[in-house]
Amino acid sequence: MSKEFEIAAKLLVKSKYAIAFTGAGISAESGIPTFRGRGGLWEKYDPNEFATVSALRKNPKKVWKFYVEFFNLMKNSKPNKAHIAIGELEKMGIIKAVITQNIDDLHERGGTKNIIKLHGWYNRLRCDNCGYRTEIEELPEEMPRCPECGENLRPDVVLFGERLPSTELDAAFIEANKADLVLVVGTSGVVMPAAYIPWVVKNNNGKIIEINYEPTVITSIADLSLFGEAGEILPKIVDLVKKAANKL
Ligand code: NAD
Ligand code: ZN
Repeated sequence: MSKEFEIAAKLLVKSKYAIAFTGAGISAESGIPTFRGRGGLWEKYDPNEFATVSALRKNPKKVWKFYVEFFNLMKNSKPNKAHIAIGELEKMGIIKAVITQNIDDLHERGGTKNIIKLHGWYNRLRCDNCGYRTEIEELPEEMPRCPECGENLRPDVVLFGERLPSTELDAAFIEANKADLVLVVGTSGVVMPAAYIPWVVKNNNGKIIEINYEPTVITSIADLSLFGEAGEILPKIVDLVKKAANKL
């Protein structure tokens, strides 16, 4: 594996415009369960009952209860070594942008500044009726009403079957088209359209480095796949990048 870490570090140092594309797996070591894969959230909850627009309409109380549990978990989690490593790579000028599918704020708290959040923000609520938005520190037990129009507020996240926010989606594809390398971390690579990001980079002859517990649909197009925990692998790569950068 150490040879592979060196190759990863070299590719990063050589890149002109590297980006990171991350998924739920990068936050797993912070104690936030993923949706798919080992210990995934969907082994406990059926997505059709909790994470769809129709579930929200039909059974808002049940969805709200699940959301409160998830919100508290995210709020009380801390960035892990993988988030911090990505933040360091940005600080060193190697990673130019992070595109994440995660709704937690662990990248931001781990030092990332240029972030595009494709699936929304766990700590924001919005009104689908009038467009009101608010950031929240604490969640009330019951789903709150919009102060502007009186409709139910909802989490400002992308539920299954919903469109992605167009500003973020456009920004993500602009970054992907600029990139000559994408570091893909902790994503199963199956949630569309986010999962097109690595393919865009590949189509433009860019490199793909993947870090995951296990092979994914990205593995077949990756130039390098590193299998293991992101929080163990990324700091080692950052150390090698620092050494390589010192030699330049
Ligand atoms: P996913 O749940 O589909 O896949 C997670 C991937 O991470 C799997 O391939 C798994 O093998 C890998 N993984 C797990 N632990 C890892 C580790 N320690 N190191 C390296 N790899 C690891 O996640 P996804 O691809 O992001 O798509 C699911 C959707 O779920 C996203 O759209 C996201 O919005 C949402 N989600 C977000 C969070 C969060 O914000 N933290 C958590 C759960 C789900
Ligand atoms: Zn409203």
